[in-house]
Formats: sequence, C-alpha cells, structure tokens
Amino acid sequence: MVPRQVEGDVERVWKLDVLKCPRCKGRMRVIAALSDSAVVAKVLSHLDLPTMLPQPAPARAPPLSEQDLDQGAFNLDAEMDQRAL
Ligand SMILES: [Zn+2]
Repeated sequence: MVPRQVEGDVERVWKLDVLKCPRCKGRMRVIAALSDSAVVAKVLSHLDLPTMLPQPAPARAPPLSEQDLDQGAFNLDAEMDQRAL
C-alpha cells in the first residue's frame, strides 16, 4: 500500500492527486506497491516503458553580464569580420 504520508507529500509538493483517475476522475485504489528495483524494471519492460532514468541535458552557459559585454566578451563586429575573411 502507498502510505498515506507519501500520498499526502505528493499532493502537497506536486499538487497531484495520485489516486484520481486521469480518465474518469474517479478514485483509484492501490493494489500493490513495488520496491524491488528488479521487479519494477521487469514490470516497466513488460509495459514497454523506459526502465532507465533520462539523461539530463547539459547545462547551458550562464548569460553574459553587463561587465562581460563591457569587456568585449561578445563582439559581433569582430565575429563578422572573422567570418568575412
Ligand atoms: Zn477511471
């Protein structure tokens, strides 16, 4: 069973009622709770769902500050001149 605390935490943090049916909006009931990762992977595979966590996208560079711009960190004219050569 999903402990009431977990259900409450999910609802509080994600504003998501985990027992509300997405189709008919009725109440669903927990029929099993799986904690063995091997069993979870087997069930997900059977349902043709991903079993691995998605890889996070690489972080983008921080935005340029006014100081960076003042120091010529980004100089469009120089870049255009370089391309013209
Ligand atoms: Zn339903």
